Amino acid sequence: MPPSLLQALKKQRYHLVGKHSAVKRCKWLYESIVHDRVCYKQKFYGIKSHQCIQMSPSLFYCTQQCLFCWRAQNGDLQITWNELKLPQWDPPEEIVQGSLKAQDRILSGYKGNLQASPQRLREALTPRHVAISLTGEPTLYEPLGDLLRAFRNRGFTTFLVSNGTMPHKLAELGEEPTQLYISVCAPNEDVFKRVCRPQIPDAWMKLNETLGLMQSFRGPTVIRMSLVKDRNMAGVDGYAKLVEKANPTYIEAKAYMHIGFSTLRLGFEAMPMHKDVQDFAARLAERTGYRIIDEAPESRVVLLSKREKPIRFSAP
Ligand code: SF4
Ligand code: SF4
Repeated sequence: MPPSLLQALKKQRYHLVGKHSAVKRCKWLYESIVHDRVCYKQKFYGIKSHQCIQMSPSLFYCTQQCLFCWRAQNGDLQITWNELKLPQWDPPEEIVQGSLKAQDRILSGYKGNLQASPQRLREALTPRHVAISLTGEPTLYEPLGDLLRAFRNRGFTTFLVSNGTMPHKLAELGEEPTQLYISVCAPNEDVFKRVCRPQIPDAWMKLNETLGLMQSFRGPTVIRMSLVKDRNMAGVDGYAKLVEKANPTYIEAKAYMHIGFSTLRLGFEAMPMHKDVQDFAARLAERTGYRIIDEAPESRVVLLSKREKPIRFSAP
């Protein structure tokens, strides 16, 4: 990878692990340890923000170049590389161990912090959850099932976020994540091409194939919608059809956040307010039969489901 890219990532506090993975401190890890405030996934699903590792096994690689993505994309900052030229992959066990070490390094920064809760910090030293969602498309990492298994064998819950363009990889996963997220950020192919900017042929068709597969997963499934003002918030009927196809356990409608490298592609005004997300969710609820069951205004996210309450995972 170009040294300027590695430098830019380090500047944004990515902890590189091996050749193609990374861990980054989530703001909610800090908020939980220092201010006793937790992320919406703790609120909804019970996983603990202070015991969560946010990581990716495919830092530099993706099948899309979504406008709203916070990762560095080919061409950002005039740095170029081929996002689809895949490397020789590091083994899962090395990635797990490297991720644990990176999380330790992150946590060592809190040791002198008088505001840090000693109990939370102690617990944080034993992470229990991994969010495989940081950047890049994780299904490009060949032994993804083995990586999920390696985390599970250590007692971790695993939330996997995919853009759904590799249905065969999801269908063949030897180990399922605890909760599977598929991003659906367009109501139709035209908007998909403009907002998600696929880099492979037939990506829309492949996403639709993935939606058809979602019901075969044993654990809870989520359709995740990243909403960008004036770009992908119309066409609720189109979204409703996609939801019907996937029949997910949940829908998370969430505002785009103006952070990371996305600031090179979108303006601040592209961030919807929480009220906009609520309105969108209400329209979606009308058309899908899903109900709004929770929300987190500070993250501008609304949770919909056919269930009355979300399934909660307490740390094993
Ligand atoms: S689940 Fe997501 S938002 Fe919550 S602490 Fe982990 S990475 Fe952050
Ligand atoms: S699919 Fe995910 S990682 Fe890839 S460009 Fe879109 S938001 Fe970023």
